[in-house]
Amino acid sequence: MSEETGTKKPKTLFTKRIQHAGSPDSDGPVIVLFVGIHGNETAGVIAVDNVLEKISANIESVNGSLYAIRGNLEALSQGHRFIDTDLNRLWEMYNTEKDFSTSLASDEDMPVEYLESLKVKSAIENIIEKHNSDKQKIIFADLHTTSSESCAFILINDTLANRKLARKFPVPQILGIEENIQGTLLSYINNLGYRALGFEAGAHTSWNSISRSEAFIELLLHYSGVMKLNDDELEKLEKEIKTYEEVPDTYFEVRYHHLIADARNFNMLPGFTNFDPVDGGIPLAYENGKLVSAPESGRIFMPLYQKRGHDGFMIIKEVSPLWLTLSGWLRQSFNHSILKYLPGVTKIDEQSFEVDREIARLYVKEIFHLLGYRVTEKDSKTFICYRR
Ligand SMILES: [Zn+2]
Repeated sequence: MSEETGTKKPKTLFTKRIQHAGSPDSDGPVIVLFVGIHGNETAGVIAVDNVLEKISANIESVNGSLYAIRGNLEALSQGHRFIDTDLNRLWEMYNTEKDFSTSLASDEDMPVEYLESLKVKSAIENIIEKHNSDKQKIIFADLHTTSSESCAFILINDTLANRKLARKFPVPQILGIEENIQGTLLSYINNLGYRALGFEAGAHTSWNSISRSEAFIELLLHYSGVMKLNDDELEKLEKEIKTYEEVPDTYFEVRYHHLIADARNFNMLPGFTNFDPVDGGIPLAYENGKLVSAPESGRIFMPLYQKRGHDGFMIIKEVSPLWLTLSGWLRQSFNHSILKYLPGVTKIDEQSFEVDREIARLYVKEIFHLLGYRVTEKDSKTFICYRR
């Protein structure tokens, strides 16, 4: 075992769903963390234990609450990413015809993760009910690690409220990940109307991932006012999570997403670190015996170095500062009701539009992104644009 890698076990067993510290009756801010949504990602689980200990020792200086919800208890106890299905890809089913919450009792063959998600969902609902005064008061964050080596980074659904919160952290920020990865817990929380950050601390097996997760949690407590740090502590923790020198801590968007059917037939070429610059055309992986090349230049993002999951790799690019400013301004001032008068655009409901791509051909994604919409493909001829 080197200094950098090794098996890590948290201080408490994986039986407890919710941990809490702070003053639940106070009117202060509420931070809700998700850890262990993937069972092979224990850095966040350990980091939470350590921060909770610190909070409990300084309880008189705490204003508000910290909750931690452990995700996939069964997968955590076995050390696997998941047992039957990915717990971070199923949240889109709630409140649709695929919602399994009512049929579960009668079907014992349901995936383990369906049950786990129901328990996580009920934990979320209990916390919201307990602190149900102001949506601005509650902040959610989901802590993960990656299969490749990586600096720390943040993933957000691109709303202005999320951007404002995420920007406080000196790490790269990936916008609009929910268009490429569907059914995430983050999107579910965003749809409930709360701010939600995804924090990726580094590689699954790196000790740095624990210290960066701790730094992220303490900084989140500080920025939200739950537990203030002094200037020296603040500087030290910001340094701790700060990105590698060669990766700017600006905004990135996903330009390409390589989906795979079976991770067992997919092999990334060795040596890629998250955010490595890649030129278009260079070989990246083998899939079913064939070479897969980068379709365009950019930076490689979340290359898959484990035999589970469906996201082979992505290509990301920096977002221009002009676009960021313009989109911020437009989202606050634009009259969205006029969109329905554009050719090929049909209003579905208050928050969404359907776009006929054979009529509206140019810059549909770009325009709707600027205005704060999530754009997904319903089929090859139709986009669904949903206002976040
Ligand atoms: Zn994960």
